[in-house]
Parts: sequence; C-alpha cells; structure tokens
Amino acid sequence: MVGCVCLLLCGGPTAHGAPPVEACATSADKLGLSRIVEVDTAGGPLFGRVASGGYDFLADGEVVLTFDDGPLRPYTRAVLKALAQHCTKATFFMVGRMAVADPAMVREVASQGHTVASHTWSHAKLQGLAADKAKDEIELGFSAVAQALGAPMAPFFRFPYLRPSPASVDYLKTRNVASFTIDVDSRDFRTRDAAAVEKTVLTQLAGRRKGIILFHDIQPSTAHALPSILEELKKRGLKVVHIVPKETAATLAEYDAQAAKIIAQKMAAKDPLASRALTWPQSSGDPERLPWAVHKAAGAPAQQQATTEATNKRATVPWYKQWLVP
Ligand SMILES: [Zn+2]
Repeated sequence: MVGCVCLLLCGGPTAHGAPPVEACATSADKLGLSRIVEVDTAGGPLFGRVASGGYDFLADGEVVLTFDDGPLRPYTRAVLKALAQHCTKATFFMVGRMAVADPAMVREVASQGHTVASHTWSHAKLQGLAADKAKDEIELGFSAVAQALGAPMAPFFRFPYLRPSPASVDYLKTRNVASFTIDVDSRDFRTRDAAAVEKTVLTQLAGRRKGIILFHDIQPSTAHALPSILEELKKRGLKVVHIVPKETAATLAEYDAQAAKIIAQKMAAKDPLASRALTWPQSSGDPERLPWAVHKAAGAPAQQQATTEATNKRATVPWYKQWLVP
C-alpha cells in the first residue's frame, strides 16, 4: 500500500476537502507549498527514513515540516504565526494529554489548514510495552486528539522517541494508520539556542536536500528559530510539501468515551490549562533567562502554574498564554 500517495498540485482540490492554499503562497518571497501529497493510509504504510524501510515520496529539494509533543500554547502559537507568514503548512503530531488540556489550541491549529495527527496518549515508549497497554496509548491518543478537535483527524502517527515496536507496527497496519518517521532532526529539545537549532537543521539539509523535518512545538528554541529557518529554506530553494490524509482516522467508541469524559472533567474544573502536563522535557538552559522566571518574579498567580512531567523528573513551571505572541 505504500505506493498509494496521490500527488496534488498546489492549491488544487483534495478529496478530504483541505482548504485551498492562500493567495500569498504564490508570492515570490514566501515559501508557500510546492504541492500537497494525499496519503492513502490503507494497510498502515511507513514513511520517511528510507533505509529503515519507509516509503519516500519527496523529490530533491522537498521537505515536510512536522511538530511533535504539543500543543503548548505559547510556542505552538509562535509556530503557527511563523508558518502563516510564509503561507505554508505543517503536520502536528499531538500528544493526547496535551490536546485534552487545550482543545481550543488543537482547533486553532486545524483551522489554519495544518494536518492534525497523533503521538500517543502520554508519550509512552511503545517498545517493551505490553500489547494491551500499547493499544491503549495509541487508541486513546487518537481519540483524545479527535475529541479535542471536535472533528475527524488524520490517521497519521509518530512513535514517541522514534521507537516503534514490531507489534505496534502490526497493530497500526490493522487500523489503517500511517506511521511517519523523520529524516532531519532539529534536536531542539537539547538547546534553548535558536541559532543552534537553525544550524542543525540547515546542516542536515545541505547534505541531503530533502526530508521530513522533526521539530517540537513545545520547545522555545524552535519557536524562536522557525521564522529564520523558513527564510533560509526559501533562500536555498527548498520547497514545502503538505501531507494530508485520503480518509480520516476511524477512532474507537470506547476510547472516544474515555477522552470525552476527561475533557468534560477538565472543562468542569474551569481551568483546564492549569493541570496540563508535558510529557517530554523542554530544553534546559539558564533559569534566569527563562520566560517563566521573568514572569514569576512579577508575581504570577498560582493558577497559572502548569506541570512539566518529564520522563524521570518533575518540575513546575508557570503557564503563560501569550508569552511569545504579543
Ligand atoms: Zn515526542
């Protein structure tokens, strides 16, 4: 089934009704989109990293922009702003727990024409997980994102830590979900330095000139770096390809019910953002230079706290909706 990609001209109609590319996408100084690739996910194909068996649908000079682990409003908003300024589109592999913590942000991403996909419920490493637990992570992830979105989503999946397990790959095939690995790693979680992220991405692209690029829209380094990276992609003649699904994801009723219940509980709490959890650590750096350190000094209210739940550590950071977008 891996050959089932339909190549659509930029701005052309799509079977699932993707919005047309904005007029500014044809401006000489904007990246825009070179084309839209419609993916038939029947049989659970694997895309990216050809050496590992993934199907490559990109031509020389073509990239796909992907953002994992969000949404996290301050940084996701900055990413959306940078993408909008270039009239270009990306795919967001959202974590279910993040999605239910901020359904409005999920809808905002989709409303701007980006593809909304899943990255499990809690960013669990599926390798080594019992089959039923892995199924729960996959299915609740899809249901959580879809329920937060309030609409069907793409049957696109990315394994946390880029670590697939054979059993999960087989399971996704039965569910007609396409898996996307990566070709270019921004390594944005390792640094708070936007220039370092830009250099990492451009260096890899200089060699291979194409590929699926991994960013995280929970990382301040990517939020800061993206405008400059997009400028450079344009200058270097690279082109952005947008991936969209032929059919939407078919979620399972029992997981939809679980996700709906969780969202309802968060809404009833009247401050759903306060209990949001990050499931992957943000890049470390000088605490005095962190945005939340500045706001904390200004006396932020306690309810604006959010919990960062890293793999083996916990840290509490304040939550600011509009930090990067004045
Ligand atoms: Zn991730």
